[in-house]
Amino acid sequence: MDTPWGIKDSAKLYNLKGWGQEYFKINNRGHLCFKSERKSRRSVDIKTVVDDITARGVQLPVLIRFQDIVRDRVVRLNESFLSAIKEHNYKGRYFGVYPIKVNQLREVVEEILDAGERFNIGLEAGSKSELMAVLAMNSPSSLTIVNGYKDAAMMRLACIGLKLGKKIIVVIEKPNELELLLKTAREFGVRPVIGLRCRLSSGGSGKWATSTGHGAKFGLTTPELVAAVKRLRQERLVDTVKLLHFHIGSQVNNIQSLKDAVREGARIYAKLRKMGVGLEYLDCGGGLGVDYEGTNKASDFSMNYTLDEYVRDVVYSIQEVCTQEEVPEPHIVTESGRSLTAHHAVLVVNVFENIAVGSVLDAQTKKSKENRVVEEMRDIISGLTVENLNESYHDGQQRLKEAETMFQLGFLDLEDKARAENLFWNLCREIHRLIPRAESIPQELRDLSKMLYDQYLVNFSVFLSMPDSWAIDHLFPIMPLHRLEEKPDRKASLVDITCDSDGRINHYCSDKKVSRALPLHALRGGAYYLGVFLMGAYQATMGDIHNLFGRVNEVHVFRDDQEPGGYYIEEVLRGQTVRDVLASIQYSEFELVKMIKHAIETQVKAGRLKRREGVDLQNMYEDMLHDYTYIDNELPPPPVGVHNEKEHKAKASSKKSA
Ligand SMILES: *Cc1c(COP(=O)(O)O)cnc(C)c1O
Repeated sequence: MDTPWGIKDSAKLYNLKGWGQEYFKINNRGHLCFKSERKSRRSVDIKTVVDDITARGVQLPVLIRFQDIVRDRVVRLNESFLSAIKEHNYKGRYFGVYPIKVNQLREVVEEILDAGERFNIGLEAGSKSELMAVLAMNSPSSLTIVNGYKDAAMMRLACIGLKLGKKIIVVIEKPNELELLLKTAREFGVRPVIGLRCRLSSGGSGKWATSTGHGAKFGLTTPELVAAVKRLRQERLVDTVKLLHFHIGSQVNNIQSLKDAVREGARIYAKLRKMGVGLEYLDCGGGLGVDYEGTNKASDFSMNYTLDEYVRDVVYSIQEVCTQEEVPEPHIVTESGRSLTAHHAVLVVNVFENIAVGSVLDAQTKKSKENRVVEEMRDIISGLTVENLNESYHDGQQRLKEAETMFQLGFLDLEDKARAENLFWNLCREIHRLIPRAESIPQELRDLSKMLYDQYLVNFSVFLSMPDSWAIDHLFPIMPLHRLEEKPDRKASLVDITCDSDGRINHYCSDKKVSRALPLHALRGGAYYLGVFLMGAYQATMGDIHNLFGRVNEVHVFRDDQEPGGYYIEEVLRGQTVRDVLASIQYSEFELVKMIKHAIETQVKAGRLKRREGVDLQNMYEDMLHDYTYIDNELPPPPVGVHNEKEHKAKASSKKSA
């Protein structure tokens, strides 16, 4: 029972296996490591990487991308399809297509294309600008799928792609898009390759399941499908219809919904084949989930199936319908984005303060002469037993109220008031400690634990770095990157450095349970790093600028056994500086500096500031425009006038060249 805490206990507490998909492990220094492949025994110590990049002058918060994990995800998905196809003796092939909206960063897209080259992985574009990027990157031997709202310009782009010899499939989602495509293709003198998106009646499941059913925004209804085929017959273009597409939403949490959708899609495919439409591909869209909770159940941030199960069900369901309908088995396309990208990115933040309730002042040591309320508060604590928890709590509340009233009337000094408050929180903590032994616990005391959580102040902005956490209370796994050989003995919720009340993370998952606080270690000076995991999908920073913090720094890490530490850093993308952020809202550096100069000049002329001090102030202001927008815990520059100008310049230039 009293075996000391070990790294295995931490792995279990933070449910590393559940959400980490074996990409992470804890080493015997108690540091969290990432593995480039699930099966690999080699790993990279994330704490070492963080120490390394901070030593290079990259400040936190930082988004670390483990590019190897993206590669492994691509390989895993493709190999899973290959083996299911072999196992079922399926006649068609598999073509993965990556929808770049999920993570548009060029390095990520390139990594996916590179790792997926031998599987002919393709790309999907859902907007004009995405299509522009995709046209440039996609190879002629893989598919390019065009979805989303399509105007004349988008159709022209698609035709340009066809002229360039790329395999572009324009998916028709609305009846009028067909006419637009036919007209544009005629103008360009190309034969289009057409996909039809059908609207299924079987819906998705989970938070993002909104795009099916009769009220859906996208997809052709059955009559529209039939009409489109007729229209293409008229034009003698029915042989250009190659693909049938559906998409039931992202993060489908229940495998049953997926199976139903695939069956329905396969049925429509079969019927169209029987009408003489030469469809070759069945595109099952996205939806393959990521288990953010790690609980393997059909809840919003989890899923009740595995990747392999999903793949087998897709292959088998299509096969079953095709056998029944006696039509050829189509090539299978899926558009998985989340499942490929989520695991590779971790946001690293540092905790720099604990806002614990009632811990600022030592209330244990008794003062020689204390006010009556303070003494009574002490008596309540010493008289506390499992039997009188509720009563003692009420007594404590009453004394606290009394202390407040006495203070307002001038009968209590500030120090005694502070003591009374602190003792009250001590009482609450004691009660909380005894609660597990009590027979029945009133609701009031149950709620007590919420008041007792520490608040850890973290150097980041939830709104900017975790937009989904902010907007839809998305749950992400969070855990310390080090000290994992130690038992985390505090429970804390995380708050950010912006001043709004939304700047906190509301839900955590530990011990396979979702709760309002996370077990963490007591702060003891020095850095305490936390990782927010599975941040690689749909978390691109918003274009908005909140509180003038900006985009966070990013680094790209690869495993390499030749390097000390077993990794190398390929790229550091600097986050925004104060200057960048201000410039994007029309404050130019030049103008700002000019205005400050003017203000300084005025003070100097009036004799309120020495010229020398004015120069220092100006330099300092200019330097700060080039600083990172997040909290910089480096020592502040010495006060005005104390340091000499040369030193100051040297520091500034070393900072720039770093
Ligand atoms: C967003 C989207 C996807 C990606 O879905 P995931 O669940 O992230 O894999 C695929 N297809 C279409 C049409 C989409 O809109």
